[in-house]
Amino acid sequence: MSETVPQHAHCHICGKAIPLKETLCSDACKQQYTTLLRRRKIIMYIMYGSIFAIIAIILLSSGSL
Ligand SMILES: [Zn+2]
Repeated sequence: MSETVPQHAHCHICGKAIPLKETLCSDACKQQYTTLLRRRKIIMYIMYGSIFAIIAIILLSSGSL
């Protein structure tokens, strides 16, 4: 049962079928997507920051021993 579906992509937010060159279906999804990206970037900065802090703490505590 392989129906020939025309080439399409899916909205990154709601998963709706959209034209191939599109990534999002509506302005609402676009807004949600940018918010999501911004939040993800902030989380990444926090993660890198805490990893750096942990490494710094390990280095500092091992250096003082
Ligand atoms: Zn959408």
